[in-house]
Amino acid sequence: MGEPEAHSSEYDDIVVGSGPAGISAAINVANRQRTVALMGGQTPFGRLRKAHVVANYPGFTSVSGEDLAEAFGRHLGEFQVPVIEEKASKIIPSEDGFVVFTEREFYQARALVLATGVYREAGIEGEEDLVGQGVSYCVTCDGRLFRGRRAAFVSYAAAGEEEASVLAEDYGVEVTFVPLYEGEHRLPDGVRVLPGARPTRLARGDGHVLVSLPAEELEVDAVFIYKESVSPRALLEGLASDGRHVTVDRHMETSVPGVFAAGDCTGEPYQTAKAVGEGQVAALRAVRFLRERTKAAPGA
Ligand SMILES: Cc1cc2nc3c(=O)[nH]c(=O)nc-3n(C[C@H](O)[C@H](O)[C@H](O)COP(=O)(O)OP(=O)(O)OC[C@H]3O[C@@H](n4cnc5c(N)ncnc54)[C@H](O)[C@@H]3O)c2cc1C
Repeated sequence: MGEPEAHSSEYDDIVVGSGPAGISAAINVANRQRTVALMGGQTPFGRLRKAHVVANYPGFTSVSGEDLAEAFGRHLGEFQVPVIEEKASKIIPSEDGFVVFTEREFYQARALVLATGVYREAGIEGEEDLVGQGVSYCVTCDGRLFRGRRAAFVSYAAAGEEEASVLAEDYGVEVTFVPLYEGEHRLPDGVRVLPGARPTRLARGDGHVLVSLPAEELEVDAVFIYKESVSPRALLEGLASDGRHVTVDRHMETSVPGVFAAGDCTGEPYQTAKAVGEGQVAALRAVRFLRERTKAAPGA
């Protein structure tokens, strides 16, 4: 894996998260004749599939989460919405909309719907406050900023080893790797590995980031963190949230113009019908946003 390349695809809308809210949003954007891609991990509907029986989704008297997920997937297939089987690790506003970074590539869209489900992971103390100020979740986006410097790489899963390798090999970063999972590690020579050294606190100190570990304190220029899900606030700077839930109004508009949110990520009740309904509202508002922007463009 080397420097990222611009992905050829550019969409009117990217829906981030492939659960019921995301599927509903993608179907509704496609139904309005806009180009849309659905971005999610490799096992869409992970959460819904866990439901043994869903008894309160209209039209299905009693259905397993697995079967309901399959039905949603078939419906999405009818609209031929492309599915990007990757996770968004960072979103950056651009002149024409947004750039959505994954581990491998980046994708562009003029509007976004966030449908990432409920965020449950407890972070490290101080982590959220240092996002963009030394804490990063995306080597592709921020690796070059720390070329030739020192970084701690905290990884919640073995998949983070590839990212850490890129940081060390492609960007020449002196990496201290802190695995928070069991098992062997495959990392380039020169990467220091500290198994079992779960960080307890991240803090800013005299131009550096201080990482408190059980037996020592590391002083580094950056802390990269690899985890299965990233909090909404960490995904997109300036996105208002209460830490767990994205703040939205009745139209599913977030604090960032052009970004809408739907489903469990906006708050309780964590329910499929609510997620699907919000997905539709978010999609229709996103389409409206796109139309108004087109009208306002010079020469339109
Ligand atoms: C055991 C169980 C039983 C349940 N029973 C019921 C029930 O009976 N009735 C009912 O209505 N509801 C039930 N639910 C709740 C229901 O599953 C959720 O409310 C619903 O799935 C929420 O949909 P969502 O799209 O908002 O989020 P999710 O279904 O959580 O989907 C979000 C998706 O986004 C993906 N994602 C997260 N971050 C990123 C990222 N950065 N980039 C790309 N993708 C990302 C996740 O991998 C996930 O696939 C149950 C849930 C569970 C776990």
